[in-house]
Amino acid sequence: MTSVRHPAYSLEFFPPKTPDGIARLRAARGELARLRPAFCSVTFGAGGSTREGTLSTVLEIRAEGMDGVPHLSCVGGSREGIRDVLAQYRAHGIRHLVALRGDLPSGSAAVGDFRYASELVGFIREETGDWFHVDVAAYPEYHPQAHNPDDDLASFERKIAAGADSAITQYFFNADAYWQFVDRCTSRRIDVPIVPGVMPISSFTKLARFSDACGAEIPRWIRRRLEGFGDDIASIRAFGLDVVTKMCATLIERGAPGLHFYTLNQPTLTATIWQRLELGS
Ligand SMILES: Cc1cc2nc3c(=O)[nH]c(=O)nc-3n(C[C@H](O)[C@H](O)[C@H](O)COP(=O)(O)OP(=O)(O)OC[C@H]3O[C@@H](n4cnc5c(N)ncnc54)[C@H](O)[C@@H]3O)c2cc1C
Repeated sequence: MTSVRHPAYSLEFFPPKTPDGIARLRAARGELARLRPAFCSVTFGAGGSTREGTLSTVLEIRAEGMDGVPHLSCVGGSREGIRDVLAQYRAHGIRHLVALRGDLPSGSAAVGDFRYASELVGFIREETGDWFHVDVAAYPEYHPQAHNPDDDLASFERKIAAGADSAITQYFFNADAYWQFVDRCTSRRIDVPIVPGVMPISSFTKLARFSDACGAEIPRWIRRRLEGFGDDIASIRAFGLDVVTKMCATLIERGAPGLHFYTLNQPTLTATIWQRLELGS
């Protein structure tokens, strides 16, 4: 298994679907490469993207000299299909992945061999031993489908018990939720690095829609300020940069084991936060 050195400052992209999107992501990576991220992860299956898109984007990133890390989601998939993907990743010398359940489009039933990410992690370990460093998702404000916080924490614990090495959180704007979650993990002797996921703020409507869907809370004072800016994108971004940079600074100060930026394939906000924080590689 490759080990990831913490603190790890990393980036996340999604695989573009059009030639234009591919060119834009290349340009974005050109700007972000100088930040020397610990790794760049690429989502899998989210928003209708294909697994080929994930692998080809990861391979491009690796060819550019950065560490490309594919995500792998299992919902609706078969053991055979996942075995194939793992074999492909291995054949390319990839040794780090992010293992997820994923989401089916609403209305479709989850037919497949895996119900939860913990089952995927167990399968990865059964099939490939210690070859991969496995990251999983964590939810400081709890997953929207969880019955209650205790059950969700138990689900997270199952993923670690199944063999996950570290975790990346859903984004949040309330650092207390993160530290509460970390404390609860520590009290259950879950001692893997739990890296905060960071969402730069580029638009209020998109952020509000995303946050409602994934269960991330936008605190009222932030929501009210963002709403108040209306269509004034420059003010939304300037305010968002201040809020997010400040939160990241306090996370680092208190010892968070890194930061993982959801870039949405846009370089500017992430690069600005990174520079303001003077993050090294
Ligand atoms: C860092 C990060 C990266 C992501 N990347 C992608 C991506 O590339 N592609 C994509 O499609 N999505 C991605 N997602 C979204 C993710 O797939 C969704 O949030 C999904 O709904 C849950 O995935 P999970 O791996 O956390 O699932 P799980 O850990 O399986 O949890 C899902 C739900 O099931 C519950 N649960 C788990 N185990 C059990 C059990 N044994 N019994 C009862 N309930 C249980 C949990 O409490 C939770 O409510 C990402 C999320 C994060 C935070």
